[in-house]
Amino acid sequence: MDNCLFCKIARGEIPSRKVFEDEDVFAFHDINPARPLHILVIPKRHITSLATIADTDTLVLGRILAVANQLASENGSPDGFRVIINTGRIGQQEVQHLHAHIVGGPEPVGPMLKRV
Ligand code: 5GP
Ligand code: ZN
Repeated sequence: MDNCLFCKIARGEIPSRKVFEDEDVFAFHDINPARPLHILVIPKRHITSLATIADTDTLVLGRILAVANQLASENGSPDGFRVIINTGRIGQQEVQHLHAHIVGGPEPVGPMLKRV
């Protein structure tokens, strides 16, 4: 995807604070962190969201979750973390390239959602 922000970050065309990379996934610090630890983990190959996945995406989706604990432990959240994947309009996904937010830090991250 030529014009996708996170594809450009994964290709190194837009700078980011990278924390991890393998063949399939790329992880970097969120530009506007909501907690002391706030990392985004993305598939290198463009996937728009959890609403558009195919069977062939299963492996990379598993990989995104499988690296989360290591990334949190190595970046200041050794006692757990939260994974958030905003999806579509209702999930208020802003960037249309699938990404898992890994949030944490020295203190608990707070209630899961504000009750409405
Ligand atoms: P969403 O709301 O789509 O789940 O989250 C998008 C996230 O991407 C936000 O937390 C936002 O701060 C982050 N973000 C947006 N643009 C950039 C960027 O250019 N670089 C980095 N590192 N993070 C970004
Ligand atoms: Zn993309």
